[in-house]
Parts: sequence; C-alpha cells; structure tokens
Amino acid sequence: MSRVLIAGAGVTGLITAVRCARAGHRVTLLDRGPIPNPAAGSFDQHRAVRALAPGDPAATRAAAALHRHWLRLQALLGGEFYRRIGVVTAWPADLVDAAFEVAARAELPLALLPPKALPHIVLPDRHLGIHEPEAGVLLAERVLHAAGRWLRAHPAVTLRPWCTVVGVDADAGRLTLHDGTDLGGDLVLLATGAWTRDLVEAPTVLHRQTTVYLRPPAELSEWWEQAPSAGRIGADGTGWLMPPGAGTLLKLSSSELCRPVDTFAETDDTRAIARQYVDRILTEPHRYRIAAVKQCHYSVDAVTGGAALAQPGPAVWARAATGGDGFRTAPLVADHIVELAAAAGLAA
Ligand SMILES: Cc1cc2nc3c(=O)[nH]c(=O)nc-3n(C[C@H](O)[C@H](O)[C@H](O)COP(=O)(O)OP(=O)(O)OC[C@H]3O[C@@H](n4cnc5c(N)ncnc54)[C@H](O)[C@@H]3O)c2cc1C
Repeated sequence: MSRVLIAGAGVTGLITAVRCARAGHRVTLLDRGPIPNPAAGSFDQHRAVRALAPGDPAATRAAAALHRHWLRLQALLGGEFYRRIGVVTAWPADLVDAAFEVAARAELPLALLPPKALPHIVLPDRHLGIHEPEAGVLLAERVLHAAGRWLRAHPAVTLRPWCTVVGVDADAGRLTLHDGTDLGGDLVLLATGAWTRDLVEAPTVLHRQTTVYLRPPAELSEWWEQAPSAGRIGADGTGWLMPPGAGTLLKLSSSELCRPVDTFAETDDTRAIARQYVDRILTEPHRYRIAAVKQCHYSVDAVTGGAALAQPGPAVWARAATGGDGFRTAPLVADHIVELAAAAGLAA
C-alpha cells in the first residue's frame, strides 16, 4: 500500500484524500486548522456547478460530466449537498443561437427563459436568460463536512488537524511541520490553496473577491426558494448570485468585486461598493437586508489566469493555482492524482 500525503483540507485536499483512499492508498491529510477549516477558500455557503462554456463544446462536455461526478460523491459521502436548482446565464440576444449550438454539440440540455421568469433579478439590456437545468449549487460547507466525516471513518486514512507545513523538501518528498518534525509520502500533494506560494515557487496571482449575503423580504422567500442561480446579470452583466435555500442566505457578487491583491492582509472599504452591486443586481434592492459582507481569496496561474497543477519535485505536486472554478473541478484533480500515482507505479 502506497502512502499519499496531502497538505491542506479544503475541497481539493479532502476530495483527493477520499479518491486516494478509495483507490487503495494509505492517506494522511493535514491542515493548519481544524478539518474542515472555516478559514479555507472553499469554506462558504455555496459554489456553483455549471457547464456551458462560450464557444467551447469540448470544455462544455467535460464540465457537464462534473454534474455526474458530484452526484456520485453525494451518494458516497452522504448528506444533501448538491442542490440541482439550475443556473441561468444572461446572453446577448444575438449570441443565443451560438450558445445553443455549443450546448447541442456537447449534449447539454438548455432552455430559453421568458423575461418574466426572473422578476427579481436585473438582466442587462438586450440580453436573454439561458437556463441550464442540470446545473446547480453545491452547499460547500456541507461538502467539506461530509468528506471529513467519511475520511474520519476510513481505516486507511489519518487526519491531522492543527499541523502547519513550514517547509517543503521537493526532491525528497518531505514536509517540515511547525513543531520541527517532518513527514514524507510516496506521493505528496500540496493542496494549500492560495497559501501554496508561501511553500513552493509558484507563479500565481492572488485574487480577492467580495461577496454580499442578504436576507430577502419574507413575502419573496417562497420565490427565492425555487429560484435558480444566475450569472452575467445586473445592469452591466458582471454580477452573479446564489439563491437562498436549505438554510443559506442569498449571496451575490460581481466580477468587478474581484481584484488582484499582493497580500491577504490588504484592507479596503468594500461595504459601500458592495451595496452598489446589490442595487444593480436586484430589482427592488431596498427590500433586502445585508446580513454580511465577506472577503475571500483564490489564486490563478500567472500566465493562463486559470487553475494549474505544478510539480515542484519528482513525487511532489502542488495545486498552487486553484482558479475561480476550483471547487466544482476538485474531483478532476483527485482523479488526476490517482492517475499520477498509478503512472508512478505506486501500489494500491
Ligand atoms: C468568492 C468566491 C467564489 C467562488 N465561486 C466558485 C464557484 O462558484 N465555483 C467553483 O468551482 N469555484 C469557485 N471559487 C473558487 C474555489 O472556491 C476555489 O478554487 C477552491 O475552493 C480552492 O480550494 P482548495 O482546496 O484548493 O484551497 P482552500 O479551500 O483554500 O484550502 C486550502 C487549505 O490549506 C490549508 N493550509 C494553507 N496553508 C497551510 C500550511 N502551511 N500548512 C497546512 N495547511 C495549510 C488551509 O487552512 C486550507 O484549509 C470561488 C472562490 C471565491 C473566493
């Protein structure tokens, strides 16, 4: 049985640990905080799972398979964490046919929503809502807790919360911990999110996103309970929202509220700016109460702007660039790590 050592218990580390344990490896998963850690980039109410990629049938087809991945994970890990409520994306009217063509080639069901179907959400002028009914929202915190529970019960898995990695010997495949001890594995994965660049050389750009959590008025709660998630919305088409439901608040943000920053410590006054976005995205913004405004970080590859898996040493891999879609794609990283272990001849 080979030893897989994973640092970081966000969605990447947890789902990879599950996948490796199922493939027959002995797994150690550690985190500098509790498992799961509320300070992880993954720890939030929701993350969207949608597939339609403009102009790219291959990416659309690959992303559509993620729906099935997450349904299988839900069945394995237990709990209800995948709300398949659909995702609506606002498209310029003259590009709608092209979107349907991409979807048809990827065998992805789509439907056009009549303008009156979303009375509480602002769509940009001359845009139509395209509904992806198989898409939905992952209740992110529930995913992390379900994976943590499953791992805790698995005889080949060791969870080590409150273990901070302070050094990496990439050639030897060993991690130095805060107490001076070190740990090794036949395969080591650094799934330490946006903080990975403190541990290994990784050309990434840190992004900070501001999100706003709202309580809808009681009279609209029934409508919001059945509402889909929505993207490219608001007057300027930069907004997105996750509807409330299953105990969560209405959450919204905008690509304009996401910016590159140099450090986690930078502060800025985003509450007023966030309020402006509520006004642009919801049709009657004054009826909603802001419950919280939160800052959250993720990292992207400095060259591609997307996610990347680097290999700092012969047996060490690093998910330093998690990307803006790093939650929904975590099962693909997990599959890839198991393939790498097999290719390296690691016995299950
Ligand atoms: C506002 C926002 C919205 C997003 N929306 C979506 C979406 O809708 N769909 C989607 O797919 N993705 C989305 N993303 C991106 C996604 O959330 C991230 O890409 C993903 O959660 C990253 O997960 P991770 O496990 O790689 O890293 P993280 O979740 O950040 O986990 C890293 C873990 O490593 C631990 N750690 C760090 N340093 C050390 C150390 N030295 N020693 C030990 N442990 C350490 C941390 O405590 C943490 O638990 C969004 C991101 C943000 C910020």
